[in-house]
Amino acid sequence: MSHVTCIELISFLDAYVAEELDAETRTTFDLHLIVCPSCRAYLASYEETIDLVRGVAEKEEELAHDAPPELIEAVKHVKR
Ligand SMILES: [Zn+2]
Repeated sequence: MSHVTCIELISFLDAYVAEELDAETRTTFDLHLIVCPSCRAYLASYEETIDLVRGVAEKEEELAHDAPPELIEAVKHVKR
């Protein structure tokens, strides 16, 4: 693979971001990103979305950690 189209790049984006591509394919991607501003923008927003999703997941974990079942039960009891 000496070059990729934008559609090919986007279809491999998952693997690219997860660093699952072999070195040759990855280099091809990097070369495409250098010459293609629209794919760079797409990759940036893709990574931003991943960060966002991860952030939300961490937040939910924190909340679950901060609220043990006993506490939830206690709150329910107070409301009654
Ligand atoms: Zn492109």
